[in-house]
Amino acid sequence: MDGFIQELRLIVGHSHVLTDAGDMAPYLVDWRGRYKGTARAVVLPATTQELADVVCQCAAMDVPMVPQGGNTGLCGGATPVCDGRAVVLSLRRLDRIRAIDADNNTVTVEAGCTLMAVQQAAAAAGRLFPLSLASEGSCTIGGNLSTNAGGVQVLRYGNMRELVLGLEVVLPDGRIWDGLRGLRKDNTGYDLKQLFVGAEGTLGMITAAVLKLFPATRSRSTAWIMVPDPQSAVGLLGLMRDTCGDRVTAFELVGRSALDLVLTHIPGMRAPLPSGAEWSVLLELSDSSDVSLDDRLAKALALAVERGLAIDGVIAGSLAQVHALWALRENISEAQRIEGFSIKHDVSVPVSRIPMFLERARAALQAAWPDVRIVAFGHIGDGNLHYNLSKPEAAGNQEFISLTPEANRIVHDLVAGLGGSISAEHGLGQLKRDLLPRYKSPVEIDMMRAIKQAFDPSGLMNPGKVLAVKEKKA
Ligand code: FAD
Repeated sequence: MDGFIQELRLIVGHSHVLTDAGDMAPYLVDWRGRYKGTARAVVLPATTQELADVVCQCAAMDVPMVPQGGNTGLCGGATPVCDGRAVVLSLRRLDRIRAIDADNNTVTVEAGCTLMAVQQAAAAAGRLFPLSLASEGSCTIGGNLSTNAGGVQVLRYGNMRELVLGLEVVLPDGRIWDGLRGLRKDNTGYDLKQLFVGAEGTLGMITAAVLKLFPATRSRSTAWIMVPDPQSAVGLLGLMRDTCGDRVTAFELVGRSALDLVLTHIPGMRAPLPSGAEWSVLLELSDSSDVSLDDRLAKALALAVERGLAIDGVIAGSLAQVHALWALRENISEAQRIEGFSIKHDVSVPVSRIPMFLERARAALQAAWPDVRIVAFGHIGDGNLHYNLSKPEAAGNQEFISLTPEANRIVHDLVAGLGGSISAEHGLGQLKRDLLPRYKSPVEIDMMRAIKQAFDPSGLMNPGKVLAVKEKKA
């Protein structure tokens, strides 16, 4: 028996250290099946102290550690590399809701809680935790924080960075930092918690968090609207905000090719309107009081049609219809996975430049590959598009995969030229790590490396993610 593995078993119990290839397999491949890694073991601690003890053992033995939550990340951040040296640390057993303070509007949860469990705990206390993603049944709060997850309500409530007040973290040397403060005002120096948000597990392991709660939603109105073009969608967003203010909670753009994939691959899906347009918007208003929002939405839509910003629309008449409209949006990733390999881009530009980006990207890609299928959709209210390319019917998968670097270059250069970001909400992981030097200045990369060095001088915390591993000097 490997003495190191034996030590880990003494800490977390025999059955919570997996070494059998079959048992480890689900932890060693990412959601899209694009990254496959190898590991010495998968360890599942149940408490912060157990995790800290495991981290101490790994640090003492110079063993790299890969934190993992729900394993729904889309950039290979939670998958170990292929050298077989790492231990995957799954946080899923740290899944307690520690406390809810309804007067302070906060909930304290462990990192392995699924997002859905936290939403449900908030609802049971008459509150709302607003982060909402299609993967919410599986993704965890630790993963949401570590990727600074966004989703469909960022427009109104902000992303994970804006929803966190305090953190508990196990540092790469095994020390525990208790920063579980539920304060909205705290100006006592550097905001350390924010360093761990979006760090993709490269600086330490988040074990618990204090999250903001909001008044529960008591009324909402959801509509599927066909728009003439993306410029009209941006105009519609402005009109909705002028007429409905902060009640505009979600504003999603869906390209026809994305909708078609869902209708083709996901059983039970129906087109929301009889004739399809090239572009649609899924829009939601919500309020914490019992007002009727349907009338307000209907009036705003009539105005939008009058101004040429919308062609036609349908307002959900029942909760079942609300779910049916959202299912069309939320199943796009799954439908695309079923369709086969696609070249994915998760990018952001200022909202006002979305139409320009879409037009320029289409022209550049079709000039390079006339048959390429563009599948575009996303959180356009946040300037965030998922801009994916599917293979033309005739092309073989292998041939299409080989186009990835060139397609990335076209899309990312355009994004950068418009003042945007090559990763809006999914992070860098392994997928975009090597693109960073082209799109961030040497000064910015130096600052990032300095932070990594300060927290993790041995380079054991999720190596090879976000930043490339630096060769050690002989
Ligand atoms: P994992 O995949 O397990 O890990 C992600 C990263 O965080 C890795 O680098 C990992 O090492 C690190 N990590 C995990 N837990 C911890 C921890 N406790 N401490 C330190 N580091 C940790 N994302 C969005 O932002 N918006 C969306 O709308 C969205 N929609 C999605 C829809 C689908 C169908 C799918 C499959 C994914 C979607 N995602 C979306 C991506 C993904 O769900 C999010 O990135 C999510 O936040 C990842 O959480 P996880 O628990 O699965 O993390």
